[in-house]
Order: sequence, then structure tokens, then C-alpha cells
Amino acid sequence: MSLTRLYEPALYAPEPVPSYWEATVARPPLSPSEIASHTCDVAIIGGGYTGLSAALELAQSGYAVTVLEANALGWGASGRNGGFACLGGTALPRTAQIRRFGAADADALLRLQARAVHRVEEITQTHGIEVDPQPGGEVCVAHRPGELELLRSEAEMLSRVLGVETQIWSQEALSARGFGMAGSHGAMWLGLGFGVNPLKLALGLADAARAAGANLCAHSPVARMSSEQGVWSLTCTGGTQVRARKVIVATNGYSSEGMPAWLGGRYLPVLSNIMVTRPLTGAELQAQGWTARTPSYDSRSLLHYFRLLPDNRMLFGMRGNVRATQRETATQQADMRRHFAAMFPAWSDVEAAYQWSGLACVTLDRLSYIGPVPGMEGIYAGLGWHGNGVAMGVEAGVRLAALAKGARWEETVPRPVRSGLRRFPLARWRRGLLPLVYGWYRFRDGAPL
Ligand SMILES: Cc1cc2nc3c(=O)[nH]c(=O)nc-3n(C[C@H](O)[C@H](O)[C@H](O)COP(=O)(O)OP(=O)(O)OC[C@H]3O[C@@H](n4cnc5c(N)ncnc54)[C@H](O)[C@@H]3O)c2cc1C
Repeated sequence: MSLTRLYEPALYAPEPVPSYWEATVARPPLSPSEIASHTCDVAIIGGGYTGLSAALELAQSGYAVTVLEANALGWGASGRNGGFACLGGTALPRTAQIRRFGAADADALLRLQARAVHRVEEITQTHGIEVDPQPGGEVCVAHRPGELELLRSEAEMLSRVLGVETQIWSQEALSARGFGMAGSHGAMWLGLGFGVNPLKLALGLADAARAAGANLCAHSPVARMSSEQGVWSLTCTGGTQVRARKVIVATNGYSSEGMPAWLGGRYLPVLSNIMVTRPLTGAELQAQGWTARTPSYDSRSLLHYFRLLPDNRMLFGMRGNVRATQRETATQQADMRRHFAAMFPAWSDVEAAYQWSGLACVTLDRLSYIGPVPGMEGIYAGLGWHGNGVAMGVEAGVRLAALAKGARWEETVPRPVRSGLRRFPLARWRRGLLPLVYGWYRFRDGAPL
């Protein structure tokens, strides 16, 4: 039994993730008694934010729920991301959303994203999950002068639809607030969103779900699914079988072609890469003029994201590579160093103490999906967060749990997130599209580093 995946096997190997976040937690040892065959009400494939948040919600409502995670809990993107708990989840521009769905549905999509950010706040507070929060909203830095005008109209729209505070900062105001970097031309500040330690969030969700009665099975890759008389049977590679009438698929960028069959060709995993420096001294922070803690990113389509962590390490992330071979990983890491040095020249010689990568997930229509799997009674899926699943994954889990409990789909998620996952044309070769898309983005972004 083997799973068909889009990237090099090394990306799916059950090795510990060499991330900074792993160095900040102590993982509990695996308990073998958790992985015996059994029947439950709802089985969940994937132990990231989406799966764990669904498990928490269902267990709290008294459902017998089992999470099957191929590796360690939070091993996927959830335990290794940049920790921006912010708006996002779709990559379809708002003008295109309005053309396709109308302004009311585009607003509903935005409100879903804002609800997702508040949901992370609520859940962490309710369950006492310590995520080292860095409050203060988020900042989008204009990477060329013309972008500031676009950010101005976005700020106006966000204030109008969400009622959140926004500000436009000139280049001088940006530097004066401790966001000193090269190549910036002012910024938009949005008073919504915060930074978290993403792995602490994932493991905290797991603890809360377990405390509510969920059965969490790490190191249990589901390799086959079949159904008989309305009951789904999930078979793990070791032979363990979990049977349930309802199944939630929460595998996002780590999905495989046949799990379930419908998913094949409808998602596209994309690599994102992060480096984290050693702790910077006060003098080093002053030399660069960066002392702000607000999670920040730039206005490029192939964006860079960066934040100063609580212990004064700088986290810097970007996309760009399409393969996970040793050679391409080395090239990507060199590119990341070069971009980091160009944007933060005073730190060009500061060593990267940690570097790692992981898979996010995009879709053909650049929209997320939360809903039933067509033609497979009792199966639900949530995926396609477009590199913004910290808040949206947690929120999707809550909504998928509601669907599994019997809520009406139309009343549970806004229309754009119900519009379906179209299959990529020439789906088998869809990864080959990425160099073309990235090339176009680089051209459109201009201002090369
Ligand atoms: C480097 C990086 C930086 C990012 N930064 C941010 C950020 O700052 N802010 C933000 O909002 N988003 C960010 N993202 C995206 C975000 O991390 C993801 O959207 C989110 O974590 C997805 O959560 P999930 O639970 O849906 O999927 P994942 O966390 O990816 O979990 C899916 C899980 O499914 C498991 N699985 C797959 N197949 C099977 C199977 N057959 N059987 C059992 N288990 C299986 C995998 O092992 C995996 O653990 C980033 C992503 C990456 C890679």
C-alpha cells in the first residue's frame, strides 16, 4: 500500500522537522496502545490545525472521534509555518471574487477570514494554550512606490467591510516605528492578526482535543479507504482499521492522489521555506533599525514574510523552488540568504541557525474548499489555504465538525468556499506549471532582489 504524491519522497519521510519551533517544545513519547483497530463516530485523516480543531469541536460535543496522522501530531505545515495568525486563505483577487460571486459573497469570505483570526484567540484562551502570542495586527510593506496607493484602497475596503482599524504609513513613519529595512516604500498596518508559535498552537489543540476525549493516533498513515453499507473503513499501513460513518479529510499540502479518489488532481502543494537567525543583540537590532514585533510581509506576489521572535531571532520566509532535491534545496537556501541580506543588509553576515521547508496548498480557482466530497456519502474535506492556514485551518476544523454533525452546508460556509475544487487541466503534470507561474510573478513583481 503506497500513497501517490506529487513531490520527492524526502518531503514526506517521517523524520523530525529541523525547525526552530521543534526546539521550543518537548514532545510526549508515543503510546502504542493508541493505535488498535476500532469503530468511532468520526474519523479524521491528518493531525494539523484542520484535523485537530475538528477533533476538538467534535469531542466537546460528545462524539467518539479518532485522528489518524501519518507522522507526529502537527508534523505537516501546522507545526512548521511562520506563525502568522492573520487574514488570508484565498489567492483570488477581490475584484475577481466580486465578478464571480458578487460583493455580498466576497464580503462573507472576508468575514470568514476575520472570524478565523478571532477563533484562534478564543480557542487558545478557552483552553489555556500558550502560543507565545505577539499581538499588534500585521504589516504589509510596499515593495515599490506604486504599491502604496493599492494598499491605501485595500485598507479602506478592509475597514469598511470588517470594521477593523487600518493605517497607511509613509516610508519615514515605517522606519520611525522600528520597521527599518531596505527596499520598502511605506506600508499598510491592519489592526487584526497576531504572531504565534505555530507548533505550540498545534500541540495545544491536540492536548485540548485529547482532554475532551478525542483519540489521537500519531504515526498512523491511512493507505486505503473503502465503504460497506454506509460505513467507511480506513486502513493504516500497519494494518490498523478504523471504521466510521463520517470521515474528515484534513491533509492539505500533504494530500495524496487517491485519498480519497475524488481529490486526485484537485490540489497543488507548493513549497515554502523559512530561516531563523540566532538571537540578535540589541546593537544589531539598532544597526538595522528593526525592533518591531508585528508580523510583516511585502506586497510581492512571490512574497517575503518576516517577524522578530520573542527571543530576538529574525524569522524570514519565502517561496520560489519547485523541487525538493538536494541541489534545488541548496540553491533555494542560497537565494533566501541573498534576499534576506538585500532586505536586512545590517544582518547579512548573521548566521541562520535553522532552515527548513514545508508544503502549503493552492487550488486551480485560488479558493479554499470546506465541504462534502461529491459522490462519497459521509466524507468531508477542507483544504487550499494558499499559505494562510493558521487561522483558516483552525476555523475550517470547526466548520467541518459542524457539517459532520449534520449542519446545512449553505448555512455553514460562504458560497466561494463551497464552489468546488476543479481538477487541474493535465493534472498529472500540474507541478510543471509552477515555474511558469513563478516566472510570471517575478516579472510582475519587478524590483528584483
Ligand atoms: C513554511 C511554511 C510557512 C507558512 N507560514 C504560514 C503563516 O505564517 N501563516 C499562515 O496562516 N499559514 C502559513 N502556512 C500555511 C499553513 O501552515 C497551512 O495552511 C496549515 O498549517 C494547514 O493546516 P492543515 O491542518 O490543513 O494541514 P497540515 O498541517 O499540512 O496537516 C496535514 C497532515 O496530514 C497528514 N497526512 C497526509 N496524508 C495522510 C494520510 N494518508 N494518513 C494520515 N495522515 C496524513 C500529514 O502528515 C500532515 O501532518 C505556511 C506553510 C508553510 C509550509
